[in-house]
Amino acid sequence: MSKTVDIDWENLGFDYIQTPYRFLAKHVNGAWQKGELTEDPNLHIHEGSTALHYGQQCFEGMKAYRTKDGSIQLFRPYENARRMNDSARRLRMPQIPEEMFVEAIKEVVRANEAYVPPYGTGASLYIRPLYIGVGPNIGVKPAPEFIFTAFCMPVGPYFKGGLVPTNFVISDYDRAAPMGTGASKVGGNYAASLLPGYEAHERNFSDCIYLDPATHTKIEEVGSANFFGITADNKFITPISPSILPSITKYSLLQIAKERLGMEAIEGDVYLSELDQFVEAGACGTAAVISPIGGIQTQDKFHVFYSETEVGPITTKLYNELVGIQFGDIEAPEGWIVKV
Ligand SMILES: *Cc1c(COP(=O)(O)O)cnc(C)c1O
Repeated sequence: MSKTVDIDWENLGFDYIQTPYRFLAKHVNGAWQKGELTEDPNLHIHEGSTALHYGQQCFEGMKAYRTKDGSIQLFRPYENARRMNDSARRLRMPQIPEEMFVEAIKEVVRANEAYVPPYGTGASLYIRPLYIGVGPNIGVKPAPEFIFTAFCMPVGPYFKGGLVPTNFVISDYDRAAPMGTGASKVGGNYAASLLPGYEAHERNFSDCIYLDPATHTKIEEVGSANFFGITADNKFITPISPSILPSITKYSLLQIAKERLGMEAIEGDVYLSELDQFVEAGACGTAAVISPIGGIQTQDKFHVFYSETEVGPITTKLYNELVGIQFGDIEAPEGWIVKV
């Protein structure tokens, strides 16, 4: 097993930690330059950068996992490459060749290998690819130049003492418009979520739940994670909508539910008025992994799914299968794991 730095792996949270190297490549004069690793965590960008004024920027979130034999692996990184290119298309930014994206991620992980948490701690290396429009500009139009960068840091398991359900509140705000940028991983959606998130925290909820922006009758997102519910007759149901961020974790769980747990896996409408059909519910994403939802506060009542303190059996099975695959303890479906 390779050497690791001296960090209290067991007590890591989700906080910025500077690691030695990041990858950075520029797109200038219509072409990608060869990127390289750099030790400088500060970006030097023009005051006219569209990323700063008009939100021409997108990002990704992914993790590298240390397996039992000490090797390091990525979970479905080509899906992140494709999604970043989908976001880029929506914002009129150049495409990033998928191989360039995945190679950049591998380079960053290898260069910071000592920061990949040891197997068994539950911790992993979080990787943040970031793509921004830069260069001199003032009008509302795509930037003349672009920067693609990726940095990383060790993060702890979301739940230190095992899975714990938390409570959420339905928001009156929208994070995205019906045909806006909800399906793109862009900072603007997150800027729009800061006030609703703050107000939810003030009321002692984990985060807020966003409804579909057109009719406000259906669940869309749980904070910055996707929603899923489990019915008494063994269905895994997750919302479908053009303003939901297509979570790679969510699509993985749909497949796991169907192929490994023998459930009926459905992307469909999740009406607030039909929450009673669910015996368990959760939020999913790279950072959240699977976060069980205890209860949801709607305008007039508090709806509890399985329990406010205990995690349901199906949620637990889904979690164990997903995390087992990510850390290499359980065989993954074809193509999901890429060794660093
Ligand atoms: C990134 C993100 C998710 C989770 O996507 P994963 O690919 O599973 O990490 C869910 N919702 C929003 C709004 C996101 O930005």
